[in-house]
Amino acid sequence: MGLGSTRKTVLVTGAAGFLGSHLVDRLLAEGFEVVGLDNLMTGDLANLEQATRDCHFHFETGDVRNPLGVYAELVFNLACPASPVHYQHDPVQTTKTSVHGAINMLGLAKRTKAKIFQASTSEVYGDPEVHPQTEDYWGHVNPIGRRSCYDEGKRCAETLFFDYRRQHNLRIKVARIFNTYGPRMHPNDGRVVSNFIVQALKNEPITIYGDGSQTRSFCFVEDLIEGFVRLMGSPDELAGPVNLGNPGEFTIKELAEKVIDMTGSTSKLTYEPLPTDDPTQRRPNITLAHSQLGWEPTINLEAGLAMTIGYFEELLRRR
Ligand code: NAD
Ligand code: UDP
Ligand code: UDP
Repeated sequence: MGLGSTRKTVLVTGAAGFLGSHLVDRLLAEGFEVVGLDNLMTGDLANLEQATRDCHFHFETGDVRNPLGVYAELVFNLACPASPVHYQHDPVQTTKTSVHGAINMLGLAKRTKAKIFQASTSEVYGDPEVHPQTEDYWGHVNPIGRRSCYDEGKRCAETLFFDYRRQHNLRIKVARIFNTYGPRMHPNDGRVVSNFIVQALKNEPITIYGDGSQTRSFCFVEDLIEGFVRLMGSPDELAGPVNLGNPGEFTIKELAEKVIDMTGSTSKLTYEPLPTDDPTQRRPNITLAHSQLGWEPTINLEAGLAMTIGYFEELLRRR
């Protein structure tokens, strides 16, 4: 895989979260010594059930807003609440997690001479006027709205990553992640895929915000993690940012109908107000990832939804 996995130590922040836990499993399978850090704000130790059975995994409860003294040769910085409901719950702390968290993890990488990866986001493009979004697009972000704590926090984190590269020669990798879904999503975090699947499985109304004509592109988690590993293993010159996402684009109404169809649910659609600054369209241009990493998603929406529906069916049965 090009990461040179002979028991190198990797730090993953946000390890107990949806993406973090899948990344931890993948890195353990690749033969790394993995330190997982999380403050368990939105994460769940149950996501690390498989990892904790591996003697090469070490979990630490901790917060990226505070200085951290661990040793690592590779750092994946994923710690940050990711769903609008979670990140708007305590917006000041969201910004601190992105900004202070980036400073601390960059400081750690500087001290240990680690290569460091930042989980950035398509939200840096805001409500985009360029479609599909390419990495050279600077974005259209409201700096003072309800989503700003997340969007601007992540933008500032990107700034810090590139300044540590220019100023301290740090080896950095910045991925701009587009909407990703799959098993281990939090059932109540308010994101659209988990909401719709849980609502459909319970035969409850499917809550469409606005008229459902806004679009998103949905990437299955396994594809995304493959992109993370390839980007981290790529030559140092490739700092990014690199878009990682599935270019298939669907309206939210189409997603609702697909979920109802695939679950055989009796749920009906209900319409609720559109949250402020909700982007009207989003779709990645992945030419850069394809040409530099040979990466493209392999799992289409139906296949990914089927696996995710299976996960939530099991979760609801156990509850
Ligand atoms: P998640 O909420 O499941 O995971 C985030 C994890 O970070 C949780 O385990 C949480 O407890 C932890 N965390 C939050 N604040 C922390 C802090 N201050 N210190 C230590 N740990 C902290 O979300 P996710 O979907 O797994 O997202 C992971 C990362 O990927 C985030 O940085 C997010 O912004 C980014 N991202 C995700 C998506 C997506 O579609 N899932 C899209 C774009 C970007
Ligand atoms: N830091 C950290 N772990 C380390 C090294 C640094 O958390 O192993 C933190 C440190 O507390 C500092 C931040 O990272 O606040 C930035 O460190 P850097 O050395 O870049 O900046 P400076 O300390 O010179 O401001
Ligand atoms: N959305 C929706 N119903 C829901 C949850 C979300 O219609 O129950 C919409 C939301 O308004 C947005 C899209 O689905 O247009 C994606 O929302 P999500 O919170 O998953 O991610 P983001 O807005 O950050 O892309």
